[in-house]
Amino acid sequence: MREPLHETEREGSARWPVIGHEAAVAALERAVRRGQVSHAYLISGPAGIGRRRLALAFAQVLLCQAAPAERPCGHCRGCVRVERAVHPDLTLLSLEAAGGERETRPTRISIDAVRELRATIALRPLEGDWRVIVIDDADRLSRDAADALLKTLEEPPPFAVLILIVEDVSSLAETIRSRCQQIQLGPVPSATVRAALEARGVEAAQAALIASLTRGRIGEAFRLAADPEALARHQELAEAGVQMLSDPLVALGRARQLAENYRRGRRAQVEAQLAVLAVLWRDLLLLRYGLGDLVVHAGLRARLERLARRWSSTEILRGLRATCQAMADLETNVQVRLALVALVTQWPSPDPSH
Ligand SMILES: [Zn+2]
Repeated sequence: MREPLHETEREGSARWPVIGHEAAVAALERAVRRGQVSHAYLISGPAGIGRRRLALAFAQVLLCQAAPAERPCGHCRGCVRVERAVHPDLTLLSLEAAGGERETRPTRISIDAVRELRATIALRPLEGDWRVIVIDDADRLSRDAADALLKTLEEPPPFAVLILIVEDVSSLAETIRSRCQQIQLGPVPSATVRAALEARGVEAAQAALIASLTRGRIGEAFRLAADPEALARHQELAEAGVQMLSDPLVALGRARQLAENYRRGRRAQVEAQLAVLAVLWRDLLLLRYGLGDLVVHAGLRARLERLARRWSSTEILRGLRATCQAMADLETNVQVRLALVALVTQWPSPDPSH
């Protein structure tokens, strides 16, 4: 449950370079103000939701050189070097960093990487009061690496703050989890994502589209906004989605093709197609209720309007529900081919009987 925030805390939080996640920011800020900073934090949530952003903002607060009430100031030497990830008292470890010069991304963070980290953690900070260590992909520590990290968590130096980032806390051993303050990040409200994108110059319709597609993953929304190719791929998925809704045979063929792609490891593409389909169904519902101005895929509006006239709102809702159910099923690793084929056969028939 979210604690009510005091006015002073809300003012302070505004300084953090974090969009959304107010409760997490307030909790961390309170800990700093009360001198109750823990030696270990565990930030969890889906990729792209802003976990690393929050970790780095916290590092800025700890390493900022401005007066305590003004941290993070965002422009002192400490803040700037944290932002660029070159602060001498900040160490970042991730799968990517653990790979060193190798071309392929490793699948595990090795014991060697954690040994090196432990040597660094033992050193007194060079400039400030804290030595901050951020371990991204902490769910990918090898077993030996996790054991080595546990030793540090059991007896951390007084100046060390470790921040572990994972997608799912259950992927970490209980011995590690229990030594960390846990911070779980949920989706950022869609309106907040839209406003943040618009504040950065993204056009309103585009911002609404990106906010819908990324479903509260603010980091992912920024990445998408900065990547015209990725956006074009989403437009292709929307085009394919409209064709699926228009013709059951196309839908069945595409469902089989998606299942095959999923089997070959292209999970993200399948998840993205389902997310787009859910938004299309929602668009149809909005059109059915005469709320066309809220439609996300404004560029496809004429075709969506023709589709919306084919079905009753109950039928459209059924299509939307089945699509959302398929998205949930995919997360629990059911038989993907069955789930996808069942999905399109549960959609209302496009027979123009209404
Ligand atoms: Zn600063």
